[in-house]
Amino acid sequence: MGSSSTRRDYQKIPLLLQLGPEPLSEDFRFHEFWLGLKGSQKPLKALLLEQRLAAGVGNIYADEALFRARLSPFRRGRELTEAEAQRLFAALKKVLAEALLLGGSTLSDRTYQQPDGLPGSFQMRHAVYGRTGLPCPVCGTPIAKRVVAGRGTHFCPRCQGF
Ligand SMILES: [Zn+2]
Repeated sequence: MGSSSTRRDYQKIPLLLQLGPEPLSEDFRFHEFWLGLKGSQKPLKALLLEQRLAAGVGNIYADEALFRARLSPFRRGRELTEAEAQRLFAALKKVLAEALLLGGSTLSDRTYQQPDGLPGSFQMRHAVYGRTGLPCPVCGTPIAKRVVAGRGTHFCPRCQGF
């Protein structure tokens, strides 16, 4: 109900502080997500970390969602086809829903911690994050790591090839 007024409120906030909707909220809609991708020349990893397409996607979840969507973190937003954008949209929802279910990840960057301070178990399910040099769970190729937007970015060079 109140989502349209919330959206107007967001638009009064200076550009740098603009946050997108949370991927598990009703405000996360494919049409807006798609327009945001099409309007950007930035690499997907950088775009996700900006939080404008979707809020609450930290470094770990961005890497895991890109892996599940089988998209290179270096692809530019506007290069994506609609089908690829759909895959990323679905992967973001899936990764965040799973993380929520499993109690989040607690790793060196402290992206998420449970309220009681116990480490979450989402890290047990990481396919790429923190697995540099280990085999990809899908194809066995060693996971690679490169820096994008100042953050360590983990990916499978084969599954997420250009
Ligand atoms: Zn792979």
